[in-house]
Order: sequence, then C-alpha cells, then structure tokens
Amino acid sequence: MYPQYLQHPIFKAASQVAADMHYPAYVIGGYVRDCFLERQGKDFDIVVVGDGILFAQNLAKALNRSQGINIFKTYGTAQIKYEDAEIEIVGARKESYQIDSRNPTVVPGTLQDDQLRRDFTINALALSLNKDDFGSLLDPFDGIDDLAYKFIRTPLDPDITFSDDPLRMMRAIRFASQLNFTIVDDTFQGIKRNAHRIKIITKERIADELNKIIRSSKPSVGFKLLDDAGLLQIIFPEFCQLKGVDIVEGKGHKDNFYHTLEVLDNICGYTNDLWLRWAAVLHDIAKPATKRFEPGEGWTFHGHEFKGAKMVKKIFTQMKLPLNEKMRYVEKLVLLHLRPIALTKENITDSAIRRLMFDAGEEIDDLMTLVRADITSKNENKKRRYLENYILVEEKIKEVESKDHIRNWQPPITGEVIMATFGLFPGREVGIIKTVIRESILDGIIPNNYEAAYELMIEEGKKLGLQIKTN
Ligand code: ATP
Ligand code: MG
Repeated sequence: MYPQYLQHPIFKAASQVAADMHYPAYVIGGYVRDCFLERQGKDFDIVVVGDGILFAQNLAKALNRSQGINIFKTYGTAQIKYEDAEIEIVGARKESYQIDSRNPTVVPGTLQDDQLRRDFTINALALSLNKDDFGSLLDPFDGIDDLAYKFIRTPLDPDITFSDDPLRMMRAIRFASQLNFTIVDDTFQGIKRNAHRIKIITKERIADELNKIIRSSKPSVGFKLLDDAGLLQIIFPEFCQLKGVDIVEGKGHKDNFYHTLEVLDNICGYTNDLWLRWAAVLHDIAKPATKRFEPGEGWTFHGHEFKGAKMVKKIFTQMKLPLNEKMRYVEKLVLLHLRPIALTKENITDSAIRRLMFDAGEEIDDLMTLVRADITSKNENKKRRYLENYILVEEKIKEVESKDHIRNWQPPITGEVIMATFGLFPGREVGIIKTVIRESILDGIIPNNYEAAYELMIEEGKKLGLQIKTN
C-alpha cells in the first residue's frame, strides 16, 4: 500500500467522486512511476472504469474547477487544471489498431485492458483510489522490478506496441536518456525493426521527444540510441552526416558526430537552456559540407560557421521547430562559435573584444559557454591553454564592458540624425556614414560618445560632398 503517494488533495476528491459514482478509479502512468523514482511529477493521469468525461465533470465540481475543464469528446478524455497541476482523466479502454490506420478503434475496457495499451511496463503502474484498497499498487507486468533494474520494456510483443504507435520508439529512447535506463534487448530489436514506421508520426511530436532528449542530463545517450536504432537517419539525417573519419596521406580528422555529442553533454553541465543546447547540436553541422583536404595543410572546414548558420533555418523548418527569435539565437551562436577561439593572447585587443561584443550582443555570455563546451581535446596541455585563453577573453570582456558599455550597444548617432543633418532621404550615403562611425568606435579610433561621433559625421559628410542643412 502506498497511500503516502496520494497525499495531494485531488486524490481525496477523486476518491470520493469515485465512491459516489460507484466507479473504480486509479492514478496511473507517469505520476506513479515518478513517485517510485522519487522524482517530482505534478501531472496526474486518472483512469476510471466508466464514463471518463462524466467523472471528470463531477471531479471538477468537487474541486471547484468547473470553469477549468477541457473536454475532448472524440478521445473520451478530459483535462482539469488545478493550481499548477494538470489532471488527465480517461475511461478505461481497449484499443485495437489496424495496420492501415493510425487511429485505433476504442471500446470501453477493464483496468487491465487499459494497462495493456500503455507503452512500457514502468508506465502501466496504477495506484487505487478506491476506498476499500486506497493506495494499493496494481502492477500486472512487473513494472516495479523493471523500475528497480532500470529497464524499459513493452508490456506486449514490441512489434505490436511499436507498430501500433511508432512514437513510442522515440519515447523509449527519451526515457532511457532522461532516466538513465536501459532498453531491454527484445524491446530495442523491436524498435530497430519498426524504425521506418516513424515516418507516419507528425514532425511536431517527434520534435517534442527530441527536445526532451536534448533536455536530459546526458543527451548523447539518447542520440546514440536513436542512431543505433536507425531512427536518427530518418528524423535528423544532417546529424548522421557528421559521422566518420576520412584519412588522406595518413592524416585523419576528428569524428564530428562524437565530438558534437561530447560538446552537447559538456554544455548540459553549464546550462538547462534548450536553445543553447541546440546551438551545441548544430555548431559543426556544416563540417561535412565544407570538408577539404589541402595538401600541406591537412583537413580544413573553412566557412563551416557561415554555412552552418544558414543550415539552421532549413533544419528548423524540416523539424517544425519554431522559426522565431529562438531560431535566430541558434543561428547567431553557430555563426560566431569560432570567434572567441580566434582571439589569442597577442590579439585580445580592446577593439577585437568590442567587435566581438557588438556582434554577439546579448548573447556574449552564452557564446562563451558554447566555446568552453567545445573544448574536447584529449591533450591536457591544449585543453588548459584554451581554457586559460577564454578566462582572459572573459576578463577583457568585463573590463571593456565597464569602460565602454558596449553590450546592447547602438552607435550614438542614428540614421535619423544623419538624415536630418544633411537633409537626406534613406539611402546609400546614410549607410556609409553610419558604418564609418560604428567601425571607428569599435576600433577605438574615436571615443564612444555623441560629440566625437557628431564631429566624425560632419567630416564624412564633407568627404561625400554633402551640405549641412540649415533651417
Ligand atoms: P512525462 O510526462 O514525463 O513526459 P509520462 O510517462 O507521464 O512522461 P505522458 O505523455 O504524460 O508521459 O503520458 C502519461 C501516460 O500515458 C504514460 O505514463 C503512459 O502510461 C501513457 N502514454 C502516453 N503516451 C503513450 C503512448 N504513445 N502509448 C501508450 N501509452 C502512452
Ligand atoms: Mg506525464
């Protein structure tokens, strides 16, 4: 008996409603699993043997949440928002799938039927909400043992589970990565055999699972499993392209697949931000496309940062990731990821730092996090040298920042001022003058203030043959 897991006020209310309606009711799935794993779950899935929607309506009333209920008639499910938790209610059901249709036929069933349609044994655990055995565990597939051994296993023949709903293959790998579990061999072989069926799943749902893998503490686990299963090639072929080492004249380059995964794992030690983690995923994505062997020089990847930044949009579009400021953030970091490393002791000048800060803007700290994570050299000396150099760069950034306030900086003279001064319309001359002013400040030729910039504007205007407008 585990009544200690049912302390939340919603369980008491659900138990009473179940008794009043003479419906057997259970909390099932992720919440129960997470209790036994001592993880904090705050979404609750409740299954009742009876009319799920009717039960949900009564529960919402009992919780004073009649306004906060969402009913999905076609699925026979309902959702109640309760404080920061979400309660999902469903009537116990039996599902049967036809090979040619993605949507199952659903008929009412027993608790056992409902547990059988769950994806993994650890997700089929249920705790009773019924008065006579409140808190007792119903575990028909030994999910508790699998939790203890950290195993992911399907309750049915894996070919059936995965072919019925191929998203479950992504979920298996996501749980393995998130919980640090092992997918048992029989189940994993099932994923391999059914990998091609992932094509029938929408891009959005695949991206959700991939993002959960990227959010886990060691995403390389998930990526390697996706790769071994044959899923990665289908859902993210560009990433697979990173794999492999070519050797010419006895010289090889590093395997960018494993390098990228190491960078990704590294960055997870510094940040939980999904999009910074995505920047790690994509920072070298154009290496395969820019790879050359140049005699005398060895392997080069010239311009992979530019081409990589361009590939971000294409990949985000294909994967149905958001095409908004998050994408532009990733593009920017990919584009700039070589800049800090190009700064070595001799050329960490104020102007180089100002230029980097201007180009990176708000993202300068995240860029430094990315380049730190990008150090994967096995040569300890090299590693230390890079790190020391970044410490120097960061000190210099602080110094320049307190002196020049260049972060989020805009030049003191705007296009409007230039146009008003010379009576110009928007056009080439305005751009030329603006650029000269910006570059001169970044290079430290003139100080970062209005007066100096104004003077330079007048000078440059003269060079262009412009007249100062007098009214
Ligand atoms: P998390 O909420 O951490 O992502 P979860 O296991 O709770 O993990 P949900 O999507 O919230 O996942 O689903 C709740 C429960 O519903 C699962 O524990 C599982 O029992 C069942 N379930 C969810 N998706 C599927 C699926 N595709 N096939 C079978 N059962 C599923
Ligand atoms: Mg859940």
